[in-house]
Amino acid sequence: MKKVLILLGPPGAGKGTVGNALADEWELPLISSGDILRENLKKKTEIGNKAKQYIESGELVPDEIVIEMIEQELKKTIYINGFILDGFPRTVNQAKMLDRIVDNSTDLKVIYLKADDDFLVNRLSNRRICEKCGKIYHLINIPPIKEGICDICGGKLMQRVDDREDVVRRRLTVYKEQTAPLIEYYRNQGILSIINGEGNLRDTLSEIKKFTKW
Ligand code: AMP
Repeated sequence: MKKVLILLGPPGAGKGTVGNALADEWELPLISSGDILRENLKKKTEIGNKAKQYIESGELVPDEIVIEMIEQELKKTIYINGFILDGFPRTVNQAKMLDRIVDNSTDLKVIYLKADDDFLVNRLSNRRICEKCGKIYHLINIPPIKEGICDICGGKLMQRVDDREDVVRRRLTVYKEQTAPLIEYYRNQGILSIINGEGNLRDTLSEIKKFTKW
């Protein structure tokens, strides 16, 4: 069976970290719509230019842009045996697009990583990312040895423009309005598991594996 896992949850719940760890363990490719969009932004592609204002203000990029982008991505042969989705779908429209490409030969499962607003604001506003190797730090919980410098590669640590507190709060509101309805959508299909996003990574991964049985 083709395995498809959707990681659902508010910004900062750990979808990226969990997705990367599971992708390594299961040898499945990870698709992060946010990463693909940021890559487009950096390269100043047409998609990047259209998406910029939305990303920087914490709004969702319009469905037609994201759906087309993910449809194109999924045509690649590396996804034939399955994949893990981080940050997609984020609207009911996006979920419907995914339904169209999921058939009887796919084992589709959804994890909702749950966390409180205060926890998320703290995690995201203290998050710094190495611009060279992508390693993630937290200024209080996982600080670098030398301020502003990556322990691993010596790269410069950056803050995502949308991790500033005001934008984080907007992202949380947008999440509640537009993405949270997907919890009900997938719960009704009987393929959803709710997992604590505030615990340590090892426990979170073991809970997920208990549910998927992959
Ligand atoms: P993320 O890295 O998942 O937090 O995404 C960062 C930003 O990219 C979001 O705040 C949105 O502006 C945009 N984005 C990422 N994925 C989607 C999506 N599936 N639909 C709409 N916008 C998205």
